[in-house]
Amino acid sequence: MSFSTTVKTELCRVPMLRPCCTRAEAYGALLYASVFSHREIRLSTENAAVARRVQALLSRAFGVDAQPQQVGRKKQLALTEESQIGLIFDALGYDRKNHVTYHLNRNVLENDCCIPAFLRGVFLMAGTVAGPEKKSHLEITSAHPSLCGETMSLMLDERLSPKQTVRRGAHVLYFKDAPSVEDFLTLTGAPRAAMELMEAKVEKNLRNTINRQVNCETANLVKATDAAARQIAAIQSVLDKHGEGAFPENLRETVRLRLSYPTDSLAELATRFVPPISKPGLSHRLKKITELASREDT
Ligand SMILES: [Zn+2]
Repeated sequence: MSFSTTVKTELCRVPMLRPCCTRAEAYGALLYASVFSHREIRLSTENAAVARRVQALLSRAFGVDAQPQQVGRKKQLALTEESQIGLIFDALGYDRKNHVTYHLNRNVLENDCCIPAFLRGVFLMAGTVAGPEKKSHLEITSAHPSLCGETMSLMLDERLSPKQTVRRGAHVLYFKDAPSVEDFLTLTGAPRAAMELMEAKVEKNLRNTINRQVNCETANLVKATDAAARQIAAIQSVLDKHGEGAFPENLRETVRLRLSYPTDSLAELATRFVPPISKPGLSHRLKKITELASREDT
């Protein structure tokens, strides 16, 4: 199931409590329907839950009965009877003869509570959202530029700040930062989906932090191993040519311990001395040894 479907299924479960909000949600769906004119209203969706929701909205808000029909892969609700379309137009304050329908009549959204409901209806018909495994993205598409602009200004009033673009003739409002996507979902009635996105983000950040730490430790380990290998090679070359006697007395314990514990870090190796010596002290002795070896080489 796509994440958009998950979100829409959650939105379809929001109870229809206030008549003003039910009408607002129906209005959002109608404005973003395939066809919304005085001759015909046609809403189509691939999501069965959305089809049932729209059917319930139309029935409750306008007393209009529209049965979803299967058309190809989609469910479609179509109204062509003048009397039914008339009921909807009257309730939305539209002139029955008016052809200009893809225009947001803010009077329909009379109360503050209605704006989230309206945006829910819009998203159900025309929205998609990327899942937690992808980059944050939520968008709403319309064929009508003025409607796109009006919806944008409505969102701005709700302190949502969508961006606007045109893609293949479609007018798109979108969010691509995680907090805005989460805010939109929470506002319109999908807090669970918003939470899912948030949790995924936290988990991803945590994983990145751990990876960075592991990488850092690995790098240090590699560096230490390289240094030990250089020290051992230096010791070996001196020993091969001149034997242990080439090392001054005070370096011989270091030589023996380095050869005995080739994988020790400096800190580990320093504790093997009797009595243990400091890390800088050991570092100094190893430096002397490698210097001695390079002198012997030349
Ligand atoms: Zn309301």
